[in-house]
Amino acid sequence: MDTLFRMTETAFRPALEKALQIALSYLNDLDRKPVSSPVDLATLRRRLAKGLGESSLPTEAVLDQLAKDVEGAIIGSAGGRFFGWVVGGSFPAALAADWLTSTWDQNAALYSCGPAAAVVEEVAGSWLKEILGLPSEASFAFVTGTQMSHFTCLAAARHALLDRRGWNVEEKGLFGAPPFRVLCNGERHGSIERAVRYLGIGQSQMLNLATDAMSRVIPGALEQALRDDPSSLTIVVLQAGDISTGAFDDFHQLIPLAKQHSAWVHVDGAFGLWAGASPQYRALVKGVEQADSWTTDGHKWLNVPYDCGYAFVSDAKAHRDSMSHRAVYLTHDDQARDQIDWNPEWSRRARGFPTYAALRQLGRQGIADLINRCCCHTKTLVSRLAALPGVELLSPPVLNQAMVRFLDRKLDSSDRDHDRKTDEVISAVAASGEAFFTPTTWHNKRAMRVSICNWRTSGEDIERTFNAFAHVLTQR
Ligand SMILES: *Cc1c(COP(=O)(O)O)cnc(C)c1O
Repeated sequence: MDTLFRMTETAFRPALEKALQIALSYLNDLDRKPVSSPVDLATLRRRLAKGLGESSLPTEAVLDQLAKDVEGAIIGSAGGRFFGWVVGGSFPAALAADWLTSTWDQNAALYSCGPAAAVVEEVAGSWLKEILGLPSEASFAFVTGTQMSHFTCLAAARHALLDRRGWNVEEKGLFGAPPFRVLCNGERHGSIERAVRYLGIGQSQMLNLATDAMSRVIPGALEQALRDDPSSLTIVVLQAGDISTGAFDDFHQLIPLAKQHSAWVHVDGAFGLWAGASPQYRALVKGVEQADSWTTDGHKWLNVPYDCGYAFVSDAKAHRDSMSHRAVYLTHDDQARDQIDWNPEWSRRARGFPTYAALRQLGRQGIADLINRCCCHTKTLVSRLAALPGVELLSPPVLNQAMVRFLDRKLDSSDRDHDRKTDEVISAVAASGEAFFTPTTWHNKRAMRVSICNWRTSGEDIERTFNAFAHVLTQR
């Protein structure tokens, strides 16, 4: 115990060196290990649910045993052949800065509690606005992910809309408040409704707008909904990158329409907002800067470790009024940026450091290259898959997402047979350990989602992945 708590180099060096050794061997072995997790739940529980000991263990033993017990159950999402959901990896500079974030262990709530953390966020926030093409005067917050970013942005929206009716929502809450509604893309991500729930608005205030075949809001449907109830306070939620098709709402047309009716426009751009960082794809987000709030993730396409999303709000006052708090025991700074004025958390991780490091490592061109490369790999993989017999392209890539399905090739096969076949092929490829994809149901059909947002994915990874499918498909 005495040695454990003695604050000397000897206490930290073995722990950090052990962690470095485990980390490097993990990262170096990614290409040789299965991408999926071959270990089953019972085994994993048996290995990890040890009795909690009375006495302390040496640091190295703790780390060694942990690494051994999780062996085969760490999914290979840090590597280049993981294409499930929408999951990025970590750039070396971002990963290393994340280690330093833990080392420095700042409480990034206030400038006074972590001056460097506050200024790093301030600088990284303005870089992000510039890279993504958002208004330079927008306020921002570094949050845990898009989920909390929706919460933060919609809290600002709730404040601003009710303030117009003279209702102070922070003071009075929503009991007896003027009604308002959320018009949204019917294909939206579930994190929108969770944010709506957290904010006490309630899911029944959400109205789905009709969408086209690619899941884009039909302008006439938005206009009709706005006209139908002109007196209601309204939030309109649009998408930069649909979770299935990757499609973008037509911001250029829809946002001015919503603004004519005094609605607040919020954009879910968890991955898609990054199109704005590439000259090649920037046209997809044309007009997006006219919205009132935007959300995107750092931990997906920017390849920063998990726990990193960004909220941006055009009405900085509404944002601040909805989040800020003053307490006598806190030291607020009137020159610096106190994160507690913009964030829902109190004590929080200094999550600006990894973002700052990733942006510095990449530079503007490096980010554009990352976006272009992932999109290019998506196109290559999907077009090669679609050329195989029995593969149907359901949704071609707009950006870095696409969907295919696998057809049961017996004569009188039905959609249900294709559904089964699609699930089987996805499982067989995962079981091969070569690549990892996730299924979904889209327009009543089982489909395989393809999502490429890891900086490590190489041409060779695409080749290996294609070969895994070719092999699985000839086997059945
Ligand atoms: C991932 C995702 C979210 C949720 O983001 P988290 O960072 O997981 O909270 C929301 N919308 C879209 C389109 C996404 O891809």
